[in-house]
Amino acid sequence: MPLSSTPYGYLFENWAKTERTLLTEASWPAREREVVATVRRVRTAGRRLKVVGGAHSWSDAALPSYHGMSLDRLAGPVSIDRHSGEVTVWAGTRLYALNTLLAEHGLAMPVLGSVDQQSVAGAISTGTHGSAPRLGNLASLVTRLRMVLPDGEVVQVDGDRTPELFQAARVGLGALGVITQVTFRCVPAFHLEEESYPLSFDEALRALPELLDREEFVKLWWLPYTDQVQVFCYRRTQQDSTFRPIRRWLDERVLNGVVFSAVLRVGEAKPEWIPALNRAVGSIYFRPSRQVARSDQSFHIAMPPIHDETEAAIPVEQTGTALRWLREFLEGQGLAVNFVVEVRFGAGDDAWLSPAYGRATCFLGAYIAASRDRDRFFQGFEERMLSLGGRPHWGKFFRVQGSGIRRLYPRFDDFAALRASLDPEGLLLNPFLERIFLEDGRSTTIPGGRATLTRP
Ligand SMILES: Cc1cc2nc3c(=O)[nH]c(=O)nc-3n(C[C@H](O)[C@H](O)[C@H](O)COP(=O)(O)OP(=O)(O)OC[C@H]3O[C@@H](n4cnc5c(N)ncnc54)[C@H](O)[C@@H]3O)c2cc1C
Repeated sequence: MPLSSTPYGYLFENWAKTERTLLTEASWPAREREVVATVRRVRTAGRRLKVVGGAHSWSDAALPSYHGMSLDRLAGPVSIDRHSGEVTVWAGTRLYALNTLLAEHGLAMPVLGSVDQQSVAGAISTGTHGSAPRLGNLASLVTRLRMVLPDGEVVQVDGDRTPELFQAARVGLGALGVITQVTFRCVPAFHLEEESYPLSFDEALRALPELLDREEFVKLWWLPYTDQVQVFCYRRTQQDSTFRPIRRWLDERVLNGVVFSAVLRVGEAKPEWIPALNRAVGSIYFRPSRQVARSDQSFHIAMPPIHDETEAAIPVEQTGTALRWLREFLEGQGLAVNFVVEVRFGAGDDAWLSPAYGRATCFLGAYIAASRDRDRFFQGFEERMLSLGGRPHWGKFFRVQGSGIRRLYPRFDDFAALRASLDPEGLLLNPFLERIFLEDGRSTTIPGGRATLTRP
């Protein structure tokens, strides 16, 4: 539970335990009209309100300062159209519940990320993505939203009626209003055959153009200090599922929860052993394997142990350069990195603050668990990725702020203008949004930003 009641106040804590705070107020509305009433009351009181999804962001994107609102009770189906594939759910619906609902109706999300604990609204709000070179992130699958604006007005948001708000709010960082409903464009249910196999680092880079061309879903994992890259390809198939829930449970509870966690603790105590530990882990787990499963079960992995993540969305052409630099950086600086580097792909899209805005993208994920080297690793990584045109994942760690972010997004000024016009009192602001949109407590200058909410 990301928001819970304690004798001292309401506790917000995120999954990674990187953000926690005690709040004066919290609410769990079960109806949209309760959201409206709370938004109006908190605004009139001159306080701040933040909606919390599944609290699966490493960044402080969801960190409330006064009133935390959870939509865990505003969840479940609104409408399902099997013919068009359009499915509307309440915004607090978790992805695992959405997947079950879709499967019951012979439908599926076209693509998903690695885990299913996020809420639908929280997942789209930070640009959560999977790995499919010709498909966009989850927000790009949204055809309609329903939102409570900071003044309490309820609006339907879509490309025809409110085109600018639609382009802004799909990856809206919780800055424009409280999303109450999300409509996704879904597809008929499908099975995937996952084939994974190891290649050497150089072989993997050589194979990449062909993989991106040929595969609908493909990702790579590289274990630092090894020469092994595990390639994961997921291909549509009519074959029956070989997926065993007990195997997933064992992977989660025993392999990740006990064995991998123990390896991480050894590395924490003896960082100089990490390269050898990585080589041992790689030789055991980076092997050819194959399984057939329902698409959502294929996309999702066993829940990993708690760790920290940063990620850069770089132009796809920079993938090889970025990976080669990363290998030299880790080895040259003697950093102890005990987690895989993840390489995923996605199509460009048109949501103004989507990290994949306007270009085919490689999402390069840099992960680490309980290590003294985290800050040096993340800082060096971010500096280099920014120089390659990288944009940070909003839900993971990043340091760049204000004008440093503004220059990464062609429509940043439009988003900032829209935010300032919808929320002039800053009801939805928190330190995360202030670092992005405010300088010296005032709105960042937005000379080019003219976007306002146009109504039908
Ligand atoms: C183990 C793990 C695996 C992950 N895997 C992936 C992955 O494969 N791909 C990927 O891209 N990311 C991944 N992430 C990151 C994660 O998907 C994002 O951080 C996502 O935003 C978290 O969703 P959430 O529901 O927990 O939202 P939160 O973290 O609670 O909130 C995120 C933002 O959404 C806003 N928000 C939430 N609900 C609403 C609403 N109703 N209206 C308006 N704003 C709202 C919040 O205010 C906040 O700004 C992973 C995270 C973890 C911990």
